[in-house]
Amino acid sequence: RVKSEGRNGWCFFRPEMDEQLQRRLEMEQDLKRALADNQFQLYFQPLLDLGSHEITSFEALLRWHHPVRGMVSPAEFIPVAEESGLIGPLGEWVLKTACNAAANWPQPWRIAVNISPLQFRHKSLPVLVKKALKASGLPASRLELEITESVLLENEKQNLSILTQIREQGVRIAMDDFGTGYSSLSYLRAFPFDKIKIDQSFVRDLPHDRDALSIIRAITDMAQSLGVRITAEGVETPAQMDALKDLGCHEAQGYLIGRPAPGIDAYCPVAKTVAA
Ligand code: C2E
Ligand code: MG
Ligand code: MG
Ligand code: MG
Repeated sequence: RVKSEGRNGWCFFRPEMDEQLQRRLEMEQDLKRALADNQFQLYFQPLLDLGSHEITSFEALLRWHHPVRGMVSPAEFIPVAEESGLIGPLGEWVLKTACNAAANWPQPWRIAVNISPLQFRHKSLPVLVKKALKASGLPASRLELEITESVLLENEKQNLSILTQIREQGVRIAMDDFGTGYSSLSYLRAFPFDKIKIDQSFVRDLPHDRDALSIIRAITDMAQSLGVRITAEGVETPAQMDALKDLGCHEAQGYLIGRPAPGIDAYCPVAKTVAA
C-alpha cells in the first residue's frame, strides 16, 4: 500500500503506479550516466529589446539527448535531477558551458542561465559562479541568472545572502516565471532584481483578454517605479508583441523572435558572410 490523495488516504498499489515509479528510477539511472556520456547540450533562445529592436541576450536551455528515448524535455528530467541530487553537477556543467559559449560570441550579448532552487543548497553557488566566469573569461556583466520565487520561499535569509554575494560580483539576477507563484510581488521588495520575466501563461491570452492585459499592466507599472526591466516570455504572434510594447514591456522572448537552437549563428550576419 502507498499513501495517495484518495478519500481515506490509502489505496492499493496499482500496476500503472509501478510503471511510473519504474520509469522514474530508470530515468534517474540514465541521468547518472548522461553527464559522463556527453548527452547534454545547451540550446540558446534570443531576447529582443522592444525599443531598439536589437538582440540583448540569449537564454541557455538544457537539452538531453537520451540514447533510446531521443530528446527528453527539461520539464521532465529537471525534477528528477533535483530529487536525485544530480542537479548539483548538472547545474555546474550548465553554468560552465554557458559561460564558455558566451565568451566566444562575436557580440557582447549576455547569457541567461536557469538556476534550480536546489543549487542554493549545494556547495557555494557564488564561488561556482566566480570560477565559471574566471575560467571562461566572460565579464560578470554579461551573465544573468534566472531564479524562481521558490528560491526565496525556503531559507529566505540564507538565499538572499547568496543572491547578494552573486550580484555583488556584477552578475544580474532575473526572476523567472513571474506571476505564477503566490508571493511574487512581495519578493520584489526583498531583493533588487535586475529583471522580471512575465510568465508565458499571461502572454498567451494577449492581445484580447482583459484580465491578462490588466495583470501585465499592473506588473509593468510597478516594475517601472521600482526600476526593474520587464521581459515577456512565450511571445508567438506580432499582435502579442505589439500589445506588450504598448504595455511598457522592455524585452520579448518567444518563438516569434526565435526558437531555442543549438547555436547563435543565425543571429550573426557578419560571421555568416565571412564563412560563405
Ligand atoms: P523557462 O526558464 O521559463 O524557459 C522558457 C521555456 O519556454 C523554454 O522551455 C522555452 O523553450 C519555452 N518557450 C520559449 N518561447 C516559447 C514560445 O513562444 N511558446 C512556447 N509555448 N514556449 C516557449 P524548455 O526549454 O522546455 O524549458 C522548460 C523549463 O525547464 C525552463 O523554463 C526552466 O525552468 C527549465 N530549464 C531549462 N533549462 C534549464 C537549466 O539549464 N537548468 C535548470 N535548473 N532549469 C532549466
Ligand atoms: Mg528561464
Ligand atoms: Mg520562464
Ligand atoms: Mg518556466
